[in-house]
Amino acid sequence: MNPTSDRALQTVQRFSVKHRFGLVAGIVTLMAGFAVTAVAVAPLVAEPPPLTQRLIVETIEPRGLGSQLLELSTQDITLTRSDITRATDSADGLLARLGVQDPEAASFLRSDSTARLVLTGRGGKMVQAQADASGSLQELVARFPAERAEQAQTHFTRLTMSRIGGRWLARLATVPYTTQQRLASGSIRNTLFAATDESGVPDAVASQLAEIFSTDIDFHRELRKGDTFSVVYETLMADEQPVPWNEGAGRVLAAEFVNAGHAFHAVWFKSGDGRGSYYDVDGRTKRRAFLASPMEFSRVTSGFAMRFHPLLQNWRAHLGVDYGAPTGTAVRSVGDGFVTFAGRQNGYGNVVQVQHGGDRTTLYAHLSRIDVRKGQRIEQGTRLGAVGSTGWATGPHLHFEFRVAGQHQDPLRVAKTSDTVPLDAASRPQFAETVKLVQARLEVAETLAGAPRSRAE
Ligand SMILES: [Zn+2]
Repeated sequence: MNPTSDRALQTVQRFSVKHRFGLVAGIVTLMAGFAVTAVAVAPLVAEPPPLTQRLIVETIEPRGLGSQLLELSTQDITLTRSDITRATDSADGLLARLGVQDPEAASFLRSDSTARLVLTGRGGKMVQAQADASGSLQELVARFPAERAEQAQTHFTRLTMSRIGGRWLARLATVPYTTQQRLASGSIRNTLFAATDESGVPDAVASQLAEIFSTDIDFHRELRKGDTFSVVYETLMADEQPVPWNEGAGRVLAAEFVNAGHAFHAVWFKSGDGRGSYYDVDGRTKRRAFLASPMEFSRVTSGFAMRFHPLLQNWRAHLGVDYGAPTGTAVRSVGDGFVTFAGRQNGYGNVVQVQHGGDRTTLYAHLSRIDVRKGQRIEQGTRLGAVGSTGWATGPHLHFEFRVAGQHQDPLRVAKTSDTVPLDAASRPQFAETVKLVQARLEVAETLAGAPRSRAE
């Protein structure tokens, strides 16, 4: 084992002497086997003792080939094949790829309103077919992300198409994912996404990191070379199989981000009311009344900085902030409220205005499309429309305004200074335990950071 992971092991062993968690033992076991930047971590159960291998030698009397063939032909042979759907798949094309030749099944897949879901959308669904030796389909199971947004991180949809009493039937179920935990860490040399790529961290996890710390760090303008991160995140399994969408990324459970020498922490925790949220280690929620940005931080938007207006060079004079981003990028409400205007206004083009509590209003202009209507109640993060260049716009961008009692404000400053809610007293002891656990994991992730590089050198 290389010196770095040796050091990591010692760190954990020291820790596990101080705090006797079964979980930490799990990490030690795994770490002995892996010295990579992202490692799989055992769930919170004790490791079973390793199986010992024995070689058993037996003499088998060969039987006549004829009797063996006869036996085979009387058995039902089931072939199972798995694949991922493509946007261009037809019923026949998909079934052919799965080794199925069954016109009746193909016709059902084309015509049944539930079964057709296998083929709709952009592809990327997991499909598994069971067929007999002649290629006729016995069962088809498709697994894909749950449609309802609030379930997207916790559940998947399982579509089962099977022959019952000679007739095909398709049914849907919403099923919880099972998860595994991963540790990763890295340091910034250039951009956040370059660093997460290097550490094998999925884009969806990188975006979550930027969102979680968005009121601590402006990821467009304040990232420094040498900044570091450590993260514990979930990977998703659907019926024990790793999911292909979003690179299998689930929720970030804990993270540390060191920006310009200042360390920020986030821990995912479900408080007494069952609602999960991110907290700093002192138990203050990281969720604010207002988001730092009306667009999610993603690989697409990361390269575009918030800019002063090109004509006036000053957002106060221009009374707004421009965010460059490609046409079609989702625009979201930065806070809870209701829509006071959704439509066209000359210079603004397609524009949405939202009234929030406490005399605060926001405005989103030049949209290519509008997804809300006047009077609609919306929550923080609700999609309002998409970036465009309608009205007086030289190119695709979002023009964004934040007003308090009619006065224009710097949206990032408003987000940073908006209220945080402390954790209720009843949840504190459990929270303290959670913090201890995740800090041990983050420490491991941190120590692992240099491992692959030091090995290569
Ligand atoms: Zn503007």
